[in-house]
Amino acid sequence: MTSISERVQAIQLHIQQAAQTAGRTADEVHLLAVSKTQPAARIREAWAAGQHAFGENYLQEALDKMKDLVDLPIEWHFIGPIQSNKTRPIAEHFHWVHGVARFKIAQRLNDARPDHLPPLNVCIEVNVSGETSKEGVTPLEVPELAHAIGTLPRLKLRGLMAIPAPGNDTAQQRRQFGMLRQQLASLNSQRFALDTLSMGMSHDFPAAITEGATIVRIGTAIFGPRAVVIR
Ligand SMILES: *Cc1c(COP(=O)(O)O)cnc(C)c1O
Repeated sequence: MTSISERVQAIQLHIQQAAQTAGRTADEVHLLAVSKTQPAARIREAWAAGQHAFGENYLQEALDKMKDLVDLPIEWHFIGPIQSNKTRPIAEHFHWVHGVARFKIAQRLNDARPDHLPPLNVCIEVNVSGETSKEGVTPLEVPELAHAIGTLPRLKLRGLMAIPAPGNDTAQQRRQFGMLRQQLASLNSQRFALDTLSMGMSHDFPAAITEGATIVRIGTAIFGPRAVVIR
């Protein structure tokens, strides 16, 4: 069996190759290791292999692991759906929040962000697949939400995030990632200076990198398949 450390290295190499093929450099693409459902000991293993940013979906599970891993200066990213009654602990314990899709949630995160910490990095989640079941604002709603978040002093809007429809058709993956890239370019042609496209998971990150991803969120390809968790 391959170790976590070998898989982190293999993914880094794959990221580098995809970036080079796209005429980009590997340092433009950051690997976020998605550690939901994985025990703290496996995060430690990935850390030892040089992986310093981790993504979690479930608040209580993440807080428990943070306690176990308090000796490591990990950069924690919240990537799950955000319930409004959980905004305070999220604002207190994470460095990034990827899935902001409502102004009310942004406001609550802003109000709960402690003054002694730097502004919380956030991305707007965009629904690029048009599936009605999906979280995220429609592309048309992005500029208004971006401007509104721009007024919140304790948040730093970094860019956009998307979870496209699943599927192994590379052309379809690229269309959806390309839509997010165009959205970011359009904001930046107004008065934004956003640097983040959070897109690409284990099965589609090469296409995301081709389309300009700056953060790829990868779980299964590093840690192996997740056990099903009943909540
Ligand atoms: C679980 C998850 C990932 C990682 O997915 P893998 O297919 O395991 O790489 C990425 N992004 C989000 C938002 C997730 O919930």
